[in-house]
Amino acid sequence: DVTLRLKGLTKTYLQGTPGEVRVLRGADLELRAGEAVALVAPSGAGKSTLLHIAGLLDTPDGGSVQIAGQDMTGKSDRARTAVRRQDVGFVYQFHHLLPEFSALENVTLPQLANGVAEREAEARAMELLERVGVAARAAHRPAELSGGEQQRVAFCRALANRPSVLLADEPTGNLDPGTADQVFDALMDLVSSSGLSALIATHNLDLAARMDRVVRLEGGVLRPAA
Ligand code: ADP
Ligand code: ADP
Repeated sequence: DVTLRLKGLTKTYLQGTPGEVRVLRGADLELRAGEAVALVAPSGAGKSTLLHIAGLLDTPDGGSVQIAGQDMTGKSDRARTAVRRQDVGFVYQFHHLLPEFSALENVTLPQLANGVAEREAEARAMELLERVGVAARAAHRPAELSGGEQQRVAFCRALANRPSVLLADEPTGNLDPGTADQVFDALMDLVSSSGLSALIATHNLDLAARMDRVVRLEGGVLRPAA
């Protein structure tokens, strides 16, 4: 059961100029439901480019992206946005929560935008906040939360609409090592309890080793890491 299939992705920046960078040269990847895969890459190797293409924030020059059984090649912006909102969750190094809203509201709002009724959306949000241990902080705004708590809330927001794929770019990279470890455990617990697949970029090889497998992006292609 493949939730994300990347096939032969190519991407070149500044094509035809002296500054041309061939970032992706035929990148392939299949993520199965329930699987957490670590993405490791030297800085500048194209990790952000790959995550943005996989998450339908950017388009490849060649190759295809298939999410939840739908091939997105040649689809309109509107169709891509609809699939991204429903089937893709993003987490970044920085939480990107809305500062004027509470933790609960930050997890509720994306569901309302997708047409979920308010009561149901709040119940789902509380369930997620409980799962990652921040239910007691539900009424607090992001600025009133610790860095680890902010990231836990960001995970809940990413999963609020029950996406089939979670894409994370250094989700604990901003935290001190002890906190990072605990917050990462919370993320793994969410992933395994929700049955989605996750592609998680990290420079931390200890965290990478705790995922189901590790792929390395280098020279524009993805390979299993030793
Ligand atoms: P990573 O996330 O692995 O650091 P990126 O995907 O951000 O890598 O970038 C890969 C390479 O492509 C880098 O050399 C970067 O400078 C270049 N690059 C990224 N975005 C652009 C852009 N919009 N225009 C030109 N070059 C870019
Ligand atoms: P960095 O990789 O430098 O840590 P961020 O993690 O803040 O940067 O974001 C990575 C990239 O994703 C940036 O180019 C940013 O503009 C883009 N981005 C962040 N959040 C969103 C979003 N909700 N929708 C679309 N693009 C986003």
